[in-house]
Amino acid sequence: MPNVTPDPAPAAHDHDHAQCVAGAVERVERRCAERGLRLTPLRRRVMEALAESHVPLGAYELVERLATSGERPPPMSVYRVLDFLVSEGLAHRIESRNAFLACGHAHETGEVALFLICERCGATREVASHALGRDLAWAARAAGFEPRQRVLELAGLCAHCRGAAPADGHD
Ligand SMILES: [Zn+2]
Ligand SMILES: [Zn+2]
Repeated sequence: MPNVTPDPAPAAHDHDHAQCVAGAVERVERRCAERGLRLTPLRRRVMEALAESHVPLGAYELVERLATSGERPPPMSVYRVLDFLVSEGLAHRIESRNAFLACGHAHETGEVALFLICERCGATREVASHALGRDLAWAARAAGFEPRQRVLELAGLCAHCRGAAPADGHD
């Protein structure tokens, strides 16, 4: 499936993207229902905006995106929604980018979430691994270390960018 056409949404071309967004909204609806929490319009909009992007979004980028589709939410409210989504496992914080990504996985204990971050287009893909989780747990235990978070970030080039023409190098 070679594809050398520049694509404004590089990670969105190889899958049913509408499904990402619908699935994300469904997950936040279900989680709120399970916990007896209210799915506020802002919670829904933030989840939608995160799922629409395969590039992790910073809080202020989110505010800007939401402002184009309605009134501008206060940044503090967006931060609170992001905290909520992260604590409920519906989104992840990508530390190296200080940005957030919708999560499409039902995480199991013992798994490690591995984020493959493209340095050219920013697209970030999440891979869950039990084998990595096991190895990390062994390595940590051998050092008498108690891990707090089980998240790894790998920087590199995504499949799309590896197949695309070289960047013009202006960033
Ligand atoms: Zn996840
Ligand atoms: Zn890329």
